[in-house]
Parts: sequence; C-alpha cells; structure tokens
Amino acid sequence: MENPLKQIKGVYFDVGGTLLHPHPSVGEIYALVLRRWGVDLPAEMLQAAFRGSWSHLTRTPKDFTNEETEKEWWRKLVRMTLEARESPKDFEGFFDDLYVSFSSAEYWRLHDGALDCIHALRRAGLKTGIISNWDHRLRSILAGTPLCGVMDEVIISSEVGCEKPDLRIFAEAARRWDFEPAELLYIGDSVHHDIEPCRKLGWSAVLIHPHEPVQAGVSVVRNFEGVCRLLGLHAGE
Ligand SMILES: [Mg+2]
Repeated sequence: MENPLKQIKGVYFDVGGTLLHPHPSVGEIYALVLRRWGVDLPAEMLQAAFRGSWSHLTRTPKDFTNEETEKEWWRKLVRMTLEARESPKDFEGFFDDLYVSFSSAEYWRLHDGALDCIHALRRAGLKTGIISNWDHRLRSILAGTPLCGVMDEVIISSEVGCEKPDLRIFAEAARRWDFEPAELLYIGDSVHHDIEPCRKLGWSAVLIHPHEPVQAGVSVVRNFEGVCRLLGLHAGE
C-alpha cells in the first residue's frame, strides 16, 4: 500500500507540549515570581496545584476572544492555583508580573529535535505552520524563538475565535494553504485536541508522545527523530 504521507504538502504543528514546553517548569516559574512578591512556596506543590486548576478550567473551552477575557481566565486559574495557600498581598501586581513572564520566550524551550525536523521538512519543499490553542501572547513568545522564521502560517485560537478540537480552526488552516485534506499532516501531543479532529477531516495526524501510549489506529512517535523517520526525512545538515 502506498504510504499516505508521501502526498503531504504541508505540516501544521501543535505548540504546547509539542514544540515548546515551559522552562524550567510551570511550578518553578510560579515559585520564582512569587518570591519576588514575598511569598515562598515549593515549586512541586505549585506544579501540582496548577495541574489541578488547569484540568478543572479546561473542561470547557476558554473564552479567548480578546485580551481582557484571556487575562481574566488566567487570573481565575492563578487564584485557583493559590487557593487556601499564602497569596501575595498585592495580588494584581504579582499576577501581572506572572502574566508578563509567561509571554516571554525566556521561560519557554523548544523540544529537542523540533527545529531540525522543521528545517528538514522545509528543505523537502513542504510548508510548515502552527495551529495552537493559545492566547495573544503566543506571538511574542514565538518572536523570541527560532520558530518565528520557519513558519509559513501561525493560527492561534484567540485570533480565529475557536479552539481545537473545533474543526473550524483546522478548516481555516487548510483554507490558508489551499491544500486538499490528504495533503495535510498535523503533529500534536493530544489525541482529543489534535488527532481526532484531523481524522474527521481526512488529514494525516501523528501523535508525538514520549511514552507512546497504545491507541488503536493512531500513528505515534516518541520524539522528533521519530517524525523524521516516519516521513523519510534526514534531520540535520
Ligand atoms: Mg499540546
């Protein structure tokens, strides 16, 4: 059977957990900023509390339609994360500091091999882009990373008014390149947000996950080297 990936002309990537991850960790960044505002809390505890509030608040789509509603959502998440714990006296000052910190590339790192893989795709003549559930700060983060020079399209949920797994954000991405569904590949780290919607639309999709969970019918690779292997590309110069 012909490899369906041979037809691919454009590759879109998820960002959070796929191309970028917070560095050193969300908990460490919270702890660091909290210390600037006179509160000392352990990073591991903050990390666990953040995970809890994140999974609670992301059960429903985020209302990221303008900067104010985005910021309000994050304010709620930060309050929930610090609930029943010591909070800075000047909560607004602290929150602004934290919010601005996460908009800087300083606290984000590219996953190993991501850039080499993107370069290999581009050398092979494929288009590369991003489809991300993120707020408006993604543009300033990207501007501080090497990704900004190697993406033909950047599609952010807060800018298009809907978020993955809503099929409309993928349809918008397809429209921008005017490729057929079978010519598009999406690479992400969530079956629910990244893989399932693509399959509904007839795109190819690859789950990138370090622990390779077994999912029936889902193409899984462990890292970006695996992506290159799957696509028959040679990463590096
Ligand atoms: Mg992700």
